Amino acid sequence: MKVQLLDLASQYRKIKKEVLAEVKKVCESQHYVLGKNVAALESEIAAYSGAKFAIGVASGTDAILVALMAAGVKAGDKVVTTPFTFFATAGSISRLGAVPVFVDIEPDTFNIDPAALEALLKKSSKGVKAIIPVHLYGQCADMDRIMKVAKKYRIAVIEDAAQSIGAGYKGRRAGSIGHLGCLSFYPTKNLGCFGDGGMVTTNDAKLADRVKMLRVHGSRVRYYHDEVGLNSRLDEVQAAILRVKLKRLDSWSAGRVKNAKRYDALFEKAAIKGVLSTPKISEGCVSVYNQYVIRVQKRDELRAHLSAAGIGSEVYYPLPLHLQKCFKGLGYKKGSFPVSEKAAKEVLALPIYPELTPAQLKHVVATIGGFYTKA
Ligand SMILES: *Cc1c(COP(=O)(O)O)cnc(C)c1O
Repeated sequence: MKVQLLDLASQYRKIKKEVLAEVKKVCESQHYVLGKNVAALESEIAAYSGAKFAIGVASGTDAILVALMAAGVKAGDKVVTTPFTFFATAGSISRLGAVPVFVDIEPDTFNIDPAALEALLKKSSKGVKAIIPVHLYGQCADMDRIMKVAKKYRIAVIEDAAQSIGAGYKGRRAGSIGHLGCLSFYPTKNLGCFGDGGMVTTNDAKLADRVKMLRVHGSRVRYYHDEVGLNSRLDEVQAAILRVKLKRLDSWSAGRVKNAKRYDALFEKAAIKGVLSTPKISEGCVSVYNQYVIRVQKRDELRAHLSAAGIGSEVYYPLPLHLQKCFKGLGYKKGSFPVSEKAAKEVLALPIYPELTPAQLKHVVATIGGFYTKA
């Protein structure tokens, strides 16, 4: 039995007719950039996320870049974030000429540790203009504590919600809690388009207006430029596809949660707890499980064993950002963030997409159980 890490083809088969009909309409309209599908999707995503505004951009990476620009972050400013995230979070900070300042993560949720964040800012908040908490794997960071400390030091909070559209936090949804939120529609995300796409969410009309201006070269009136922005727009074809998929997102997320619960129960029964731990969801949080990530001993050996058995898995992420070659100049070293470094050695993402069958989940857990009982 083969189990892919992600099987987008099975999802596509179910929506193909509707998707192709919508794409055809866009082609026939010959209106490709910032048309009615983008406008409609922006309202739909705003409503879905519980934010007042949503602005489509070309990718999740650009969403972070534009959000930082809208928040007034400039070259030389500091932006605090986690080293245990996809590269784009910190890459976007650097692209602006700003300086990423890392804070370690909590061992249970893999999200930024609010106590470490408070300690850092208490020591010195000089030059810190923004904080980017990342809602990793589909679970929100500890936003109450983050917003509280940000307010104290008057720092903007930009949620990196690329992996967590729809994730719940005390009755609210990812992207509606900070000053700005960033979504990605990269194909492997819970709401993926057929290429690159992203969106910025906010409750602040002024910030929304700035994002709108920045995505079209800093102009409000065509050919008149108030600021140097960029060309970062979501296109009509992607928006049309995303609108078809958004209608199904809640049921897909529910499928992911159901699979996660099944895994939890199967791992519990398999009694391999000593060498393996399953995801921990904090009180008040509803994860949308973009990934189901276990922590294990002998992770790389297990991964090879799974691969040999035809089961896909992935390591998000093998090298924390403070140890990346391109960030050498920031002055961090091995040991700077021990919780992230340990996580990078132990995490393993298993197949979790909604179309998986109970038999496939059982097979994954049995294969993992086999690896540890054999050893
Ligand atoms: C995917 C992702 C991004 C970047 O999104 P793209 O659409 O691929 O540019 C940023 N942050 C995190 C945490 C992500 O997972």
